[in-house]
Amino acid sequence: GCGICVKKCPFEAINIINLPKDLERNTTHRYGPNSFKLHRLPMPRPGQVLGLVGTNGIGKSTALKILAGKMKPNLGRFDSAPDWEEILVHFRGSDLQNYFTKILEDDIKATIKPQYVDHIPRAVRGLVGDILKQKDDRSEKENWDCFTWAHQEAELTHVLDRDVGVLSGGELQRFAIAAVAVQVSDMYMFDEPSSYLDVKQRLTAAHMIRQVLEHTELGDRRYVMVVEHDLAVLDYLSDYVCVLYGSPGAYGVVTMPFSVRVGINAFLAGFIPTENLRFRDDSLTFKISQRAEGGGELGKNDVMRSYSYPSMTKTQTKGKAKFILHVEEGMFTDSEILVLLGENGTGKTTFVRMLAGLLKSDEQVALEEEGEMDLAANAGAPDLNVSYKPQKISPKFQGTVRQLLHKRIRESYIHPQFVSDVMKPLNMDALMDNGVQNLSGGELQRLAICLALGKPADVYLVDEPSAYLDSEQRINCAKVIKRFIMHSKKTAFVVEHDFIMATYLADRVVVYTGRPGIEATATSPQSLLTGMNQFLKSLEVTFRRDPVNFRPRINKRGSQKDAEQKKNGNYFFYE
Ligand code: ADP
Ligand code: ADP
Ligand code: MG
Ligand code: MG
Repeated sequence: GCGICVKKCPFEAINIINLPKDLERNTTHRYGPNSFKLHRLPMPRPGQVLGLVGTNGIGKSTALKILAGKMKPNLGRFDSAPDWEEILVHFRGSDLQNYFTKILEDDIKATIKPQYVDHIPRAVRGLVGDILKQKDDRSEKENWDCFTWAHQEAELTHVLDRDVGVLSGGELQRFAIAAVAVQVSDMYMFDEPSSYLDVKQRLTAAHMIRQVLEHTELGDRRYVMVVEHDLAVLDYLSDYVCVLYGSPGAYGVVTMPFSVRVGINAFLAGFIPTENLRFRDDSLTFKISQRAEGGGELGKNDVMRSYSYPSMTKTQTKGKAKFILHVEEGMFTDSEILVLLGENGTGKTTFVRMLAGLLKSDEQVALEEEGEMDLAANAGAPDLNVSYKPQKISPKFQGTVRQLLHKRIRESYIHPQFVSDVMKPLNMDALMDNGVQNLSGGELQRLAICLALGKPADVYLVDEPSAYLDSEQRINCAKVIKRFIMHSKKTAFVVEHDFIMATYLADRVVVYTGRPGIEATATSPQSLLTGMNQFLKSLEVTFRRDPVNFRPRINKRGSQKDAEQKKNGNYFFYE
């Protein structure tokens, strides 16, 4: 036992006290005598979207597999695995009994958008358009052109004649969502649909997913389940949510269904009200004044340093394709986080690489060609000491995490302040002896963030830190970056599509406008309110704030609040 619970605790739950007493009886599945155990199950309802939220390794995909009928739950037994009779008896009296009866009678066809879209090209070969056409049986059944709707909504029209093998991550994700949305099915499951997508594409994906319920007769009988780590998207997409908590890799518990608002607030608070149970010490709130709190540490004699960069142009050519980025001049100070907001392909990474000194602006190149080396050095990004976390992480280092930290940030990684501000919250301890080459996507991301923050610099450039992180890790990571910048009084530029993270981090924002892949402009850094208003207006989306934790919530399209805020031009936090 863990010594905290009054009774002997069978779960060695070190951080959770007051675990529900009936858990043992409510084991749904266990992979092996000493391996992961899932307690209870989410309960899908026809005609509604059920959202699942929880950290990685807590049993979300396991629950989906069981509810898709692809895995028979063993109720935690291996010696005498239960037959379906027994499983039905186990779920007697709940909606799950009906649901499993249907599964057993083969009455439920479940279609899953898999979590790892990068694996799709290995399983599916052919042209995007051909595959979508072949999967599309909704068009005939529902008597409308579902195929055209799907490829247009998913922005796949220009890749219909491309092979699935050549698609980018974002294109693969949209293809996978479209390929599920065009099928006639009883249960639609979307495992992490927003990975690789920008804010605009995430909202479109949310609309596509909800659309399967819109067919008048069939919609009311269809089930939809979504696992999602972007909490603003999950909030917008779901009709109700179940939270999964527990100890990753050891056991997971599914809560009763909550309204979306209550469920997500419970997750952020780390506290399940109905079970009077705290599953995390930390909570996340979104008070606007967080910057002021951090800034309060500035002594009277501290001089704020300020930096500037000139207006710049960057032309990128790839074969016949040409992309032009215009950057408006900008100024920034220390103790400040600037968040870069824009669609994929509008040049956020290009800009960050220019600031990092890895790319030269057109102006710099021209001066150099004229032999004006000294002028050229000052014509681009200022001579800043920068640390850069790239968007794409593919380390070549052969060795353990500890060896890499020792090699790259020898001083920081043992410094007490860095340990408590960065290493601990990113749970680097757990990775120390792992080979860098064997890390998962989320583990690599944590390592990359740690390496970037560990390097002494004036400016930290962090490109898409939330990619591959689960919602729990995103909360930690956002707190780490914020605390680090406030304590070290440095500047950070952060590219971020997760809206909750972006709002939490941003002191000011740079907005990208224009046409992705063709020509775009990065505005000068603007205040959070002005910049967010501009960005949200371009997306035709309005936000409100939750009264409890002040988190941003997307207004339902066409709702009274939405219409009112649009009329008044208050796209961001009206109240
Ligand atoms: P999530 O989707 O929440 O990240 P999963 O349901 O994929 O979590 O996995 C929950 C736990 O079960 C993990 O610790 C995982 O390693 C373990 N697990 C998943 N599949 C298997 C399997 N086939 N055999 C043994 N353990 C498994
Ligand atoms: P974002 O980070 O906003 O998604 P990027 O800065 O990565 O955008 O890319 C902007 C545009 O520039 C894209 O159309 C991309 O294809 C193009 N691009 C990026 N790098 C290169 C390059 N090295 N050569 C040619 N085109 C490039
Ligand atoms: Mg999963
Ligand atoms: Mg990028």
